[in-house]
Amino acid sequence: MMRVSREDFSVAAATNSSAYRRVTIPVLRIDAGPGPAVALMAGVHGDEWEGQAAILDLWQQLPALLQRGTVYLLPAVNAEASLAGTRLSPNDGGNLNRAFLGAPARGYTEGVAAALEARLLPRIDAMVDVHSGGASLRYLPSSVITRYAGDAYDERLPRLARAFGLPQCMFFRGNETGSMPAAASRHGVLRLSAEIGGGRETRSDLVDACRDGLLACLSELGLLPERPPASAPEVSIHDLDAPDATLRAADAGVFVPCVDLGQTVSAGQAIGRLIEPAMPDKPIRVLRAPQAGDVVCLRAIARSEPGDCLIQVAPALPLDSLASQY
Ligand SMILES: [Zn+2]
Repeated sequence: MMRVSREDFSVAAATNSSAYRRVTIPVLRIDAGPGPAVALMAGVHGDEWEGQAAILDLWQQLPALLQRGTVYLLPAVNAEASLAGTRLSPNDGGNLNRAFLGAPARGYTEGVAAALEARLLPRIDAMVDVHSGGASLRYLPSSVITRYAGDAYDERLPRLARAFGLPQCMFFRGNETGSMPAAASRHGVLRLSAEIGGGRETRSDLVDACRDGLLACLSELGLLPERPPASAPEVSIHDLDAPDATLRAADAGVFVPCVDLGQTVSAGQAIGRLIEPAMPDKPIRVLRAPQAGDVVCLRAIARSEPGDCLIQVAPALPLDSLASQY
């Protein structure tokens, strides 16, 4: 017996012009009886569109498809940032992926995090939390596995990454206690993420790939019928935690890359230049790949400041090597 219900919640978000204002976070609960409970969410950063559009598709489609268990759909978990088209919450400048800091919540962003930690995380076994490059970055579409602190290797993670269906997976390590991976870890929730597209734009093919990946994850977790064995190519993993994976701007300028996402480069190969057209006497700065590997991320905004991430490069390793990287 399928039961579909709204479980929206609202969070205080006062401004100087609205004393008791609240923002509503939309949540759809689809209950198909016994089985795992899974949350599919996007919009932790409000300007990351592919997952938000894909989960909105599932809002319409999934009630007719779900076979077992319970799914919570959160297409815009930072609703205020999604409405504003910004990465951070416009209300208080908060980063929802750093706001799981425990009570008392100081303002809107920590309020959303506290509500998720009280209402959602204790009720689920697994989650897929879809991100993208947002306004400032463009990613090679990839699933993402994040190891929080000393989390033990879980062999279900590469299976989920394979099910997601993209040929690339990225591996991060994180130690920030306020992050979504930390909150999921505290509640024993299996968490896969993704980085899909970016820039201020989005495209239907990326949204569709994300939606299909989410459905395939539900199959892998036993909530949808098993899918025929994937004919997708073997998944490779890129370790983005290595110190040399990220090149940041050392200086202000206009970033002109000469490589593209997915291109393989050698260590020291020129990947672009930083120029200052308003100061024609300033020397052009040639930028070089910090290590050999595939270009998996590029800055999507040409004007750059010191500290901005310009490019991420990492060698492709077999997904089966993940356990040895823990
Ligand atoms: Zn994000």
